[in-house]
Amino acid sequence: MIKYLFLIAFQFFAWQVPLYSYSQSLFKYDIEKITADVYVLKPVINEYRWVTANIVVIVGEDDIVVVDSGLLPDAAREAIREIRKISNKPVRQLLNTHWHGDHWQGNEVFAKEFPGLQIISTVKNSEAIKRSGMVWINNFYPKYLQQMIDGYEMEIKNNKPAGSDKNFNANELELIKEGVGQVKEDLANMKKINPVFPNVTFSDKMIIKKGQRIFEFYYLGVGNTVGDAVLYLPNEKILMPGDLVVYPSPYESGAFSKEWVETSKKLKQFDFNYLVPGHGDVQHNTGYLDYLNDLYAELFRQMNDAYLRGKATIEEVQKMVTTESVTKELNKNPKYVYFTKNLGNDFVPNAIRDSYRRLSIGIY
Ligand SMILES: [Zn+2]
Repeated sequence: MIKYLFLIAFQFFAWQVPLYSYSQSLFKYDIEKITADVYVLKPVINEYRWVTANIVVIVGEDDIVVVDSGLLPDAAREAIREIRKISNKPVRQLLNTHWHGDHWQGNEVFAKEFPGLQIISTVKNSEAIKRSGMVWINNFYPKYLQQMIDGYEMEIKNNKPAGSDKNFNANELELIKEGVGQVKEDLANMKKINPVFPNVTFSDKMIIKKGQRIFEFYYLGVGNTVGDAVLYLPNEKILMPGDLVVYPSPYESGAFSKEWVETSKKLKQFDFNYLVPGHGDVQHNTGYLDYLNDLYAELFRQMNDAYLRGKATIEEVQKMVTTESVTKELNKNPKYVYFTKNLGNDFVPNAIRDSYRRLSIGIY
């Protein structure tokens, strides 16, 4: 009976506030309020799982604009639950910064919860979501998540990380066991995604005014992907470049190219007090962006140098241009020492591989 009453109470509540009813979500967020009405939902997830993006919530006089919708419907549901704690205004616009699944695969939940939702992106990104995004949902995510599960299960069986002699301690073992269970659930949920695509697109620039607030949407060129959208709020001086900026180390997401270097430099033209990366901590000055631009420039300088010395194959270039050779040059600027310490080991070798791949088969 108590259970029954509870159910009625819950249903009443659910009818009052149109929230999804769901069991314990695997996604959690830290909420960072960066200005009076702008919040960043920073995901807190088990390190063994696939990442999901920062979600930005911009609360206006009448409604809300959101940037990116998360890796899975569950990530979006949890985001909406957090948004409801901030405001009960409807979400009217959702920006998908690019086609990688952690930025748009939660669209279906936002679209259902907020009828008439405008899902905004660049023309190029909208095409890429329908093409590459769907290949990822149907093919790559199932494959890679299954590989993650198989790899973790092997590590659990061996009681140590692959390639290590040291056994897991109790905490590490608990974390990886929890992680593998969650990845299994993510894989099952990935197969149930009901893709919802952008329905408002722009080529180079689009401006929306809502009360005093101005939203400037830009396409600055090929970068992290073929169609990255950037949002800038000139009044608050907040720049949201999606995964063109990822902190504390850039991702090498399969498309590193000379064009990215040029596009990244354009971000410097924005006068910002806050830079909200696609992943990681909000930046309050240009330091990290300067570092990224110098890192990319140095990487290409050394690749070019290797080529001029007759090193033509990817392997030859990767031998000559390494994380050490690149960070050694960057560390000549003392401001960069902190950043280079956090550079992922894979970034330089993968960036070289992918800039070659980009030249040869042109996928990004
Ligand atoms: Zn991402």
